[in-house]
Amino acid sequence: MASDGIPRLAVTIPLAVIVGLLVGSFLNVVVYRVPLGLSVTKPRSFCPTCDRQLKWWENVPVVSWVALRGRCHTCHEPISARYPLVELSTGIIFGLTTWGWHGTIVAAGYCTLAAGMMAVGLIEFGGRRSPLSVAAIATVIGLVIVVVGAGWQHHWRIAGGSLVGTAVAVLVFSVLRTTDPDCEDPRGHGRSALLIAGCWLGGLGWASIALGATLWIVAYFLCMVGAWSMAGQPTGPTPAPAPARAERPVLTTPLVSALAVAMAASLIAGG
Ligand SMILES: [Zn+2]
Repeated sequence: MASDGIPRLAVTIPLAVIVGLLVGSFLNVVVYRVPLGLSVTKPRSFCPTCDRQLKWWENVPVVSWVALRGRCHTCHEPISARYPLVELSTGIIFGLTTWGWHGTIVAAGYCTLAAGMMAVGLIEFGGRRSPLSVAAIATVIGLVIVVVGAGWQHHWRIAGGSLVGTAVAVLVFSVLRTTDPDCEDPRGHGRSALLIAGCWLGGLGWASIALGATLWIVAYFLCMVGAWSMAGQPTGPTPAPAPARAERPVLTTPLVSALAVAMAASLIAGG
C-alpha cells in the first residue's frame, strides 16, 4: 500500500508496540473488573492480596513484573505471569498488525479489533461470560477507524467490506440471540466476538479470508479434540456431547480461541 514503507514503519511499529503494551495493561483491568460489574477507571490498580494501591513504577507493562520478580513489592505474594503475558502479546499483535497494514490508519482500526477480541477471549477463558458491551464497543471504534482510514486512502473495498461484514455479523448474532438467548451450549460462549470477526474479515482480501478460514477450521477441530479428550471422551467419529464444566473454561470456548487464532494469523496476510 505505502510507497514510503520503511521509514514510516520504523516509526509506527515501535509506537504500536508501546501502545499495545499499555492497551494490554488496560485489558488486564477490563478482563478482571468488567465481568464483576466494577468500574474500569476507579479505583486505580491494586494488589489483590494486600489491597494496596500500586505506585506508577509497579504498573509499567512487563518491566515492573520482571523487576519485581513476579511478586508484590509489599506482601511478596506472587503476581500471575498472565499479566505480563497479556501485555507482551498485545504489544506483539499490535506490532504485527501495524507491519501487516503498512503502518496506515487502518492498522489502528485492526489493533482495536484485536484488543476487543483478546478481551472477549480472556474473559471467556476465565470462565465468565463477556458482556456484549465489550465486543460492541471494540467493533464500533474499530469499524469507524477502518472505514475512515480506508476511505482516506480511497480503499473503498476495505471500507465497504468492513461495513458489509459488520452488518452480516450483527444479523447472524441477532438471530443467534433470538433463537438461543441464554446460550447454554458452551461452544457458543464468546459469540459476541462474531461482531468483531465480521468487521475484521469484511475488510480482508479473499486470500486472507481463505487463510483465516483454514486456520479457523484447524483451530476449531483441535479445540474440540482437546475438549473431548479432557472430558475423557473418545475422540472417534462419534460426536461426544459438549462438556459443560466450568472448570475447563479454556477448552469450552473454542469459538473465541479459533477466531483469535484465525485473526492473529490473518494479520500478516492483511493489507
Ligand atoms: Zn500485595
